[in-house]
Amino acid sequence: MTDSSDRRAARLLHHRKPGLGQGDPVVPPITATATFHLPHVQAGGHFYGRNGLPTWEAVEAQLAILEDADCVTFPSGMAAISAGLFATLKQGARLVVPSDGYYVTRVLSQGFLAPFGVSVTELPTRAYATADFAGADVVYLETPSNPGLDAVDIAAVAARARAAGARVIADNTTMTPLLQRPLDLGCDLVVAADTKAPAGHSDVLFGHVATRDAALLARLRDWRRMSGAIPGPFEAFLVHRGLETLELRLSRMCASAALIAQRLAGHRAVRNLRYPGLPGDPSYAVTKAQAAQGGFLIAFELADAAAAEAFLTRCPLIEQTTSFGGAHSSAERRARWGDAVPEGFIRLSVGIEPVEELWAAIAAALE
Ligand SMILES: *Cc1c(COP(=O)(O)O)cnc(C)c1O
Repeated sequence: MTDSSDRRAARLLHHRKPGLGQGDPVVPPITATATFHLPHVQAGGHFYGRNGLPTWEAVEAQLAILEDADCVTFPSGMAAISAGLFATLKQGARLVVPSDGYYVTRVLSQGFLAPFGVSVTELPTRAYATADFAGADVVYLETPSNPGLDAVDIAAVAARARAAGARVIADNTTMTPLLQRPLDLGCDLVVAADTKAPAGHSDVLFGHVATRDAALLARLRDWRRMSGAIPGPFEAFLVHRGLETLELRLSRMCASAALIAQRLAGHRAVRNLRYPGLPGDPSYAVTKAQAAQGGFLIAFELADAAAAEAFLTRCPLIEQTTSFGGAHSSAERRARWGDAVPEGFIRLSVGIEPVEELWAAIAAALE
């Protein structure tokens, strides 16, 4: 981690201290209420559970430290992405989305935004480096992309997109704000699935949008209040607890991923390994320049679908699941979802297991 991310991680752990009085709970309470005592409407404070809830606000305070920006939380990553898109698009607008990024964002754009008159253009992440954004209203990027792990220079894309008059949204899920901060690099909005590494224990869905633009912030809050896409207090509590160990977990996950990527790359059964933190990877230079570490996701290919399935079934320390960023290592064969990847393509999310145990299990399962 960089110095400033260390400082943010430390501040995050103590964010409640200035607001605490004698006898107050150090951990934010789960405020499970729809209604608040409201004898006078104008007197301030909370007034209805769709407008604001102390437990989400505790998570927003943590995320604001990590993002250096105001944050609005949502009940899932997709709810956050929807909010970002609905807050910035209107009829006739042109949206650019990655053709190789998180697929639900594309399906949402084509299935729900296009019918309202938004024109949706799909571009591979690597093409963002040279794309002409003339006429675009919103340029949406994801780097490294999920699942292919292609990276693009965020500052360069944001500068070109903004020069063309577009707003720039970055899905920062694969990196988290401790590793990469798109707002510092010129993006208008960050959207993220906190379901993944930030919550970190595969027991809750959650998301957030971060921005330093006051008008956009107001619009995002209006969207949440009017669409009703509000997080629950129990979920917010779990995310608050998860975020307290994000820095610790990420350190382990990234260090292990770097080691495992290097060893996998030298394994005779493995082809086309991608890890943005591995020197020589096509994403290495750009990731090194804009991210604190290479992340915890590795992509690679085994001979075919059968070899990939056999590996995943045999490895006792890899959970077969479709999400990533959890404490336990997990992986899946992405072609089973129809991603445009070879049949033997595996996306591996490295967890917090002691790395030599994990490597021994992976190496044995590859034999
Ligand atoms: C998982 C994911 C999402 C969606 O998050 P949910 O919490 O599942 O709605 C969005 N973007 C990326 C890159 C993701 O990996």
